[in-house]
Amino acid sequence: MNADSSAANAAIATAANTATAGFAFDNTYARELEGAYVPWQAAQAPQPALVKFNRALADELGLAVEVLDSPLGAALFSGNELPEGATPIAQAYAGHQFGGFSPQLGDGRALLLGEVIDRRGRRRDIAFKGSGRTPFSRGGDGKAALGPVLREYLIGEAMQALGIPTTRALAVTLTGEHIYRDAGPQPGAVLTRVAASHLRVGTFQFAAARGDEALLRKLADYTIARHPAPVAPDGNPYLELLRAVSERQAELIARWMGVGFIHGVMNTDNMTVSGETIDYGPCAFMDHFDPDTVFSSIDTGGRYAYGNQPLIARWNLARLAETLLPLLDTDPDRAITLATGVIDTFPARYEHHWLAVMRAKLGLSGEAPQDLALASDFLALLDAQDIDFTQAFRRLADAADSARPDAESGVRALFADDAALDAWLVRWHARTASDPRDPARRAADMRQTNPAYIARNHRVEQALSAAVEHSDFAPFEALLAVLQQPFDERAEYADYAMPASAAQSQGYKTYCGT
Ligand code: AMP
Ligand code: MG
Repeated sequence: MNADSSAANAAIATAANTATAGFAFDNTYARELEGAYVPWQAAQAPQPALVKFNRALADELGLAVEVLDSPLGAALFSGNELPEGATPIAQAYAGHQFGGFSPQLGDGRALLLGEVIDRRGRRRDIAFKGSGRTPFSRGGDGKAALGPVLREYLIGEAMQALGIPTTRALAVTLTGEHIYRDAGPQPGAVLTRVAASHLRVGTFQFAAARGDEALLRKLADYTIARHPAPVAPDGNPYLELLRAVSERQAELIARWMGVGFIHGVMNTDNMTVSGETIDYGPCAFMDHFDPDTVFSSIDTGGRYAYGNQPLIARWNLARLAETLLPLLDTDPDRAITLATGVIDTFPARYEHHWLAVMRAKLGLSGEAPQDLALASDFLALLDAQDIDFTQAFRRLADAADSARPDAESGVRALFADDAALDAWLVRWHARTASDPRDPARRAADMRQTNPAYIARNHRVEQALSAAVEHSDFAPFEALLAVLQQPFDERAEYADYAMPASAAQSQGYKTYCGT
């Protein structure tokens, strides 16, 4: 056999393999949104190795799980081989980063491979992060380091298990090369990410910044088709689009607040229109309750502090509204009035969702006028006494189970000053007295909404450093297993429920540097 024909045979074998992987791509974004992307190819990885494969998610996507959990998977998820039907593109977007506008950001180290329809009929994007430079890379190397990629895998799965809308990781592949970051050389990795879509507020800002109204309209129509919003027969579809995105974000942020999640970099390019959490860079979960909590090393002004997240969401939505003005009405004043009407309702919509989250956390059924004060006053107690947010609600669930001996001992043990707690508990018991559920049922329901386990910063750091520095994935796997069942308290994992020691949390910072 001559060299040419053996190369041809190898190519045929690869095509057959990639065809057996089960990706049934249908790439509407690439087909319909020309002008909002650049066709591009992933960089070649010198020595790809699949270190993490999300078999459950692969199955959900209808992929050939066994075929992919193999060297073929490493070849595909590193970008070395293209699965049949993929049309890789770098998506264009703009964005406000820490309040300053960049008219062109885009996928500088990411590629959208395409879309598949999952087993439940949902369209999902499959994308790479860390797959090399693109025309949008600016000064960056287009690469991702293993630590942040594993972090995105872990936190995404934790959010999913908490029931919070999120993008998810399908695979982590080592590329076999080292990349250079402030902390020194790091193993390079590619994350394969699954998302309801990668449409962002920044995608609309890109079209608007170019003054390309045709593209803007195509994008809006595409978004409406992909993420349908209810529209009255005589309604304005673009106004309903804005309202739907606002509503999804109001609910999402309320859910974040309910688990103490701090995204850390809520730039408009990191806010989806689908309502999924995206881009787990410097994110972290708060230990003791404090609305001013900030972990990100670059967020020196506290713009993206825990307590600011609802305000920032509204600010970002106002930027989305601005892009939609030309579509809302031919009369600019009228367009502004319509958009403002939606943006101005955000605080009330957010509070509605937040109160629903807090009622569930506090085990309150129905609605009573005192609920807002009851929730706010409990948080004020946690703040005043520096009490761990997650533990406080978990132990409050025990306190709801009044038939249990010493039901309140756990929550009491957290408070240095129980006089303040006692006064609050009296009000809480009075409110729950009208609950038709029996106390054990209420406690069980509270335990289904108040996690025992969150991705504690010190645990995440331990798991990532073992994997990155010693190729020891055991702590990562153990933590992942705990976080995949966050409501199921297990004696053998008691340590995972504990906050960091003062020494561990002192000056803790997170970094963007994927
Ligand atoms: P992020 O802060 O991760 O949401 O990224 C903001 C922008 O910076 C996006 O346009 C990214 O594609 C780009 N970016 C971040 N890191 C890199 C990198 N290592 N190489 C190229 N572009 C990057
Ligand atoms: Mg981003």
